[in-house]
Amino acid sequence: MGARILVIEDNATNLELMVYLLEAFGHLPLVAADGEEGLAVARRERPDLIVCDVQLPKLDGYAVAQALKGDGALRPVPLIAVTAYAMVGDRDRMLAAGFDGYIAKPIVAESFVQQVEAFLPSAQRARQPAAWEAATAVEPSVSAEGIPLPREQGF
Ligand code: MN
Repeated sequence: MGARILVIEDNATNLELMVYLLEAFGHLPLVAADGEEGLAVARRERPDLIVCDVQLPKLDGYAVAQALKGDGALRPVPLIAVTAYAMVGDRDRMLAAGFDGYIAKPIVAESFVQQVEAFLPSAQRARQPAAWEAATAVEPSVSAEGIPLPREQGF
């Protein structure tokens, strides 16, 4: 299963690239272009993971992180910062704000999805296309028996 991943990013080029890469690996991106919208989408959609730019209009990434981690329903959702700065102290500040990790900008197309998936349970990590087809092919027989699959278990 792909994951529902909220991407909060005000830079259209970066947003497009991240959405493109996540979709290419079978994930379902949700998007928001500022911190307020990001919080609203997170609360409404309860994504599996959130990728969040640090410099954002309305509410910056630190404020978004504090709000998300102060919300009992959203606190367990992995939260990854995407940031151009990696100055001394920034890492500590990000972790203190509640981010579970960070990915440096510029986004590297070859490794971005892998970096994100390190924060997902293995069942929600993307598969190679052939394995993905095999995985989805077993779904009908499973659901035909009416056995609900626990979300954390893969095929
Ligand atoms: Mn930004």
